Amino acid sequence: MSEQRAEVAVVGAGLAGCLLAAFLARRGYPVALYERRPDPRTGAVERGRSINLALSERGLDALRRIGLDEQVLADALPMRGRMIHPVAGEPQFQSYSAAGDRAINSISRGALNNALLNAAAALPGVRIAFDHRLVGLDPATGEMTFETPQGKVNETASVVLGADGAGSAVRGQLLGHGLLRESVDFLDYGYKELTIPPLGGDFALDPEALHIWPRGTSMMIALPNPDRSFTCTLFWPTHGTAAFASLGSPAAIERHFAQHYPDLPPLAPNLVDDYQHNPVGVLGTVRCDPWQVNGTVALLGDAAHAIVPFYGQGANCAFEDVVELDRCLDECADDWSAALPLYQRRRQDNAEAIAQMALANFVEMRDKVASPLFQLGRRVEHALERALPGRYVSRYEMVSFSTTPYAEVRRRVRRQHRTVGAVAAGAVLLLAGAVGSVLGGRRGRRR
Ligand SMILES: Cc1cc2nc3c(=O)[nH]c(=O)nc-3n(C[C@H](O)[C@H](O)[C@H](O)COP(=O)(O)OP(=O)(O)OC[C@H]3O[C@@H](n4cnc5c(N)ncnc54)[C@H](O)[C@@H]3O)c2cc1C
Repeated sequence: MSEQRAEVAVVGAGLAGCLLAAFLARRGYPVALYERRPDPRTGAVERGRSINLALSERGLDALRRIGLDEQVLADALPMRGRMIHPVAGEPQFQSYSAAGDRAINSISRGALNNALLNAAAALPGVRIAFDHRLVGLDPATGEMTFETPQGKVNETASVVLGADGAGSAVRGQLLGHGLLRESVDFLDYGYKELTIPPLGGDFALDPEALHIWPRGTSMMIALPNPDRSFTCTLFWPTHGTAAFASLGSPAAIERHFAQHYPDLPPLAPNLVDDYQHNPVGVLGTVRCDPWQVNGTVALLGDAAHAIVPFYGQGANCAFEDVVELDRCLDECADDWSAALPLYQRRRQDNAEAIAQMALANFVEMRDKVASPLFQLGRRVEHALERALPGRYVSRYEMVSFSTTPYAEVRRRVRRQHRTVGAVAAGAVLLLAGAVGSVLGGRRGRRR
């Protein structure tokens, strides 16, 4: 079948691009996968750039479809809940699911990317060109221009799929041709990574939790790595007195952490060096429309809809895009001019829903998780889930442990909140009525 099909170009051999190449090759397409960087399987990891990430059901569902889930999970560390680190006092554990048995998985980004690259490269018809940075695209003809170490190279494909990340060059080209509108909302927070190495050969913190140090307007999280270290990520404002730049000297850095994150310095011997030398990454939400042009050029993953990382869903969502595009190709008998618009229609609302939930979750993580009221709310929610199995399901459960479309998750959570609100109001009215009649009875007897 593959000889009848024209080559599809995938720009970007990141998480979404590699998975997409594998899905397309399995459909019988010859695929050219272009990546601006050298082959990551031969090079060093970039310092301080999102070393690990949390993979949950949506991502696993995609990997299962190409038989890669067990291999990836073999090196994953399941995290069953949040461990909240207050400024003073003992850390407190909050499980993610009502029964405490469900976990999200801490995965090495590099190892996941390499596993996907190997899977794509092993399939017939996949050609990978590293050191190819897309700098030009004619959407009408599919002609692409790449910068390579040997100079500029032109290539053509009948379908061009941009999986080239938040700063997508494919999106930029569509924008430049007046074929797309975009908005990029940068958060006034950045991120910086620090490391907690193994302690006496073992994990320095509980490896079965995602650790959070909520500090009101800012926070730090830590995820475990297979080598028994933890990667911490600081999410701090980019401007003002609490910004990264406000800590100018080693003494100031040590003082700040001793005061606000007192359990960290004894566990992080390279704290000052990490802080001074690891870069500050930017965070933001990318929205654009359309996601496809003429049924021949389309965007997937962060290229179409980068989101802030506070729900741990960016990569999971990017993987769902690939699954949905594959489904659309099935339903449209591989007619790209029908499949790409259908893919956009089905995914756009969902991407917007998770973009908004991810922004809301930042407030929850950095602020609310520490409050007793929030903790009570979570306990009530888990009690409802146990009392009404399948009828009341928390937002976190649906986002992380199901493939319910994100937009449907939002609608369902609103419905549940309305029902619980109505039941609570009814209970209050009943109680008020009962109290009223008791009091009325007493008054009557007194008269
Ligand atoms: C701090 C942080 C923590 C995160 N944590 C999580 C998490 O826990 N769970 C989760 O699901 N998601 C998480 N994410 C989000 C996740 O990293 C992204 O959503 C995911 O990487 C998107 O995959 P992608 O393939 O679309 O883009 P990318 O992974 O960015 O890949 C894009 C690829 O395209 C290449 N490229 C770029 N430009 C060009 C060009 N001009 N020509 C050729 N190639 C090009 C790049 O080199 C790269 O290889 C996190 C993000 C951040 C910043």
